[in-house]
Amino acid sequence: MNYDNQNIFAKILRGELPCQKVYEDDHSLAFMDIMPQADGHTLVIPKYPAVTLLDIPADQLAALMASTQKVAAAVKKAFAAPGIVLFQLSGAEAGQTVPHLHFHVLPSSLRTLMTRAHAAQMEDQAKLAEFAARIRAALG
Ligand code: AMP
Repeated sequence: MNYDNQNIFAKILRGELPCQKVYEDDHSLAFMDIMPQADGHTLVIPKYPAVTLLDIPADQLAALMASTQKVAAAVKKAFAAPGIVLFQLSGAEAGQTVPHLHFHVLPSSLRTLMTRAHAAQMEDQAKLAEFAARIRAALG
């Protein structure tokens, strides 16, 4: 693995770039996707510097999945969603655009997701801030 510590998410983790934060603990950070494929589209990333799913030790991945489950429950509640889509792209060939491991959490369905392009359209920051606040409230 060749981890680039200048990638966008590494900069967000170091506080060099802003994000609409939803959740943080010792191992992970969750924030709103700036080009969402659905309202409430949230990203959960490890603090561990992994590029893909294959680059993270199992114990770190377990901690990340626990955070992802927690965030998914809050996203589902905040958007009164009947279901949650969880996806993860490993490798540029698979469509990964940011080389720091992340899980996408969406209060949506596979069919709806197909209608909105991946990482294509910037969302209004005020709207993202409102969604982040809603998810934080659901986290309790
Ligand atoms: P992937 O293509 O699976 O690597 O997903 C990367 C995601 O990061 C895309 O959905 C982008 O919209 C999102 N993204 C890119 N830059 C930022 C950023 N600065 N803050 C939040 N999300 C971002």
